[in-house]
Amino acid sequence: MSIAPFQTAVPSRIDGLTDLAHNLWWSWNREAVELFRVIDPAGWLATERNPVRFLLTVSPVYLETVAGDPEYLAAYDAVMARFRAETSDDNSATWIGQDRPAMAGKTLGYLSAEFGLHPTLPIYSGGLGVLAGDHIKAASDLGLKLVGVSLLYRQGYLRQRLDGDGWQQDVPGSLVPEFEPATPVLGPDGSQLQVEVVLDNPDLPLKIAIWQVLVGRQVLLLLDSDVEGNPEWTRSIASRLYGGDREHRLRQEIILGIAGVRALHAAGYDVDYWHGNEGHAAFHLLERCRMLVAEGMTFEQASEQVISSSIFTTHTPVAAGHDVFPDEMIDRYFSHFWPQLGIDRDSFLALGAHESTGPGFNLTALSFRLSGYANGVSKLHGEVTRTMWHDMWPGLDEADVPVSSVTNGVHIPTWIGRHMADLYFQELGDAWRADSDNQEVWDGILDVPDDDFWARRRRSKRSMLRYMRDRSRVRWLASHDSGNALIGAPFFEEGILTIGFARRFATYKRATLLFHNPERLSAILTNPECPVQLVFAGKAHPADEGGKRLIQEIVWSTRDPLFGGRIAFAEDYDMQLASYLVSGVDVWLNNPRAPLEASGTSGMKAAANGVPNLSILDGWWAEGWVPGNANGWGIAPYEQDDELNDGLEANAIYDLLENEIVPLYYRRGADGVPHDWITVAKQSIRTVAPQFSARRMLKEYVDDLYAPAAGVER
Ligand SMILES: *Cc1c(COP(=O)(O)O)cnc(C)c1O
Repeated sequence: MSIAPFQTAVPSRIDGLTDLAHNLWWSWNREAVELFRVIDPAGWLATERNPVRFLLTVSPVYLETVAGDPEYLAAYDAVMARFRAETSDDNSATWIGQDRPAMAGKTLGYLSAEFGLHPTLPIYSGGLGVLAGDHIKAASDLGLKLVGVSLLYRQGYLRQRLDGDGWQQDVPGSLVPEFEPATPVLGPDGSQLQVEVVLDNPDLPLKIAIWQVLVGRQVLLLLDSDVEGNPEWTRSIASRLYGGDREHRLRQEIILGIAGVRALHAAGYDVDYWHGNEGHAAFHLLERCRMLVAEGMTFEQASEQVISSSIFTTHTPVAAGHDVFPDEMIDRYFSHFWPQLGIDRDSFLALGAHESTGPGFNLTALSFRLSGYANGVSKLHGEVTRTMWHDMWPGLDEADVPVSSVTNGVHIPTWIGRHMADLYFQELGDAWRADSDNQEVWDGILDVPDDDFWARRRRSKRSMLRYMRDRSRVRWLASHDSGNALIGAPFFEEGILTIGFARRFATYKRATLLFHNPERLSAILTNPECPVQLVFAGKAHPADEGGKRLIQEIVWSTRDPLFGGRIAFAEDYDMQLASYLVSGVDVWLNNPRAPLEASGTSGMKAAANGVPNLSILDGWWAEGWVPGNANGWGIAPYEQDDELNDGLEANAIYDLLENEIVPLYYRRGADGVPHDWITVAKQSIRTVAPQFSARRMLKEYVDDLYAPAAGVER
């Protein structure tokens, strides 16, 4: 397919750059980023730091220049040596190879409707996807054999544009595989591999083409329904993440689960055990049963085998987060399927039944029934899940419900900002990245001189402010309307205590809680001695009018004289903006309605960058917070009705800001450095980075869930 007008030939001395560009390993290795960036820094930014696009369009003159530069070549050789070692199939030198050798030859199939790997690969919408991305990256680092499966959303997730009235416009994104590190998986005849899957018409199976994205040692297969020969209406099924109605969603999930299993087999992977990330992937369980029945097993035997080799992670206690389909829809899509399982309609529907949450076929219930290992994503969420789903195990006490928990973590090498990374390399050595779950490594942060620490924090903030300004300028020049990140000039003063709040605008996250008492908020923000400013970002789900209204309320507040220009809303929250915000602000705010935040992960990213959290004690923060506010600020949730809680918890936030946080930030030593603040920031790094790293998380998955599901004795 010829799409690009450019196609630069890479000189042979540095032609490894093409391989490097096609493996996302580069994205969490700063030295690799530098190899691309220094070739043409302006071109690097213009291609959105996507090396595939960069290499397609860079001037050959620049490539020839670096190919003759000994200093560049030395850096190139060093990066390529590490790249080859850290993406090799040989995992004998990794944690798995060394410490869990019985797992070294076992392959995990990991299915997720989204993966947040890099900002320019728009196959994620929020925390769930970013977690899957961090999971696969950490698995690569640790040497766990894993093959991922997801969908190729050709329109990505929505890009957020705010109109002049602050209303979110849902602009489709775009994913052109040729502009991404995605390549076709080839079949035996040299053409792109395809599998078939039946939707509602057994006579008209849909063709699904298979792509792959390399993530370190791992392969992520992406399923694409836009295939020639498919009926027109089916070609866009996999085009948009969360873009359609319930039936659209069902079709996508049939592709993910059923075509996903077929794709793994067609591509030659021998999967030993399976992990469904959230209920979206649930149909993989049925397809695996079907294959075993086709080999001669009864459904009971088949399901027993599937149960013993499957892990299911549930990610939310919010009812709308669980997919439920009406029986009549299941009839249309599965009446050809249950005979292949050797069971009747009633037995089939019973697999997805969950009376207490209502009628219909519930993918969370299905996942629990056919997965022998299940977990929530924080200790608290584990408890909430056991209560919520207790009735599926009527013979057991609630505490014995077989759902454990593995608290989420973040991929530290991905989420530490440039300036803090410089500091960590200098003070902690390469171990902060290579051994990020090691507490002793991070204890070293306490020995860093305060003035050096503070200089890096300031630099991080300056980068964030510059990035926000650049982004809104580009937007403004392109559209000349005023609906973009409306930021008054005062906003860019870097001396002001800056609080960040950025996440999906799901209602339970209460984005506007701070506005509960506008006068009190105004007094905090516009205090002439110790001003405070707020930066908000986040998208509302396209169908969520309520979420869009909250965004509009905040955009209006940016123009409200009451708040003195001290509020900004940054448009189009994505992983790029997230990485600037979590490392650039001074405090990370999260105020969900407890206990609905299953984990939350952005606060972990912030804390690991030296940005303390101010948060309700829900999800991960209920575990991460050190009593006495030594590493950030925790607010115990109240237990009244929602409305009362809102008021009480908003007041608790105001109190903490007025009495503790603002004074601490502005209390300076004779050297102008806020030593007491830095003490909290350092504790935030020391206590959060190792404990809430994806490395720690993955090791727990391996020992508690993966090893037993793979049939390996510890
Ligand atoms: C980390 C991240 C999230 C997760 O946010 P939480 O609300 O803290 O769970 C969402 N979106 C993006 C882009 C992220 O990088």
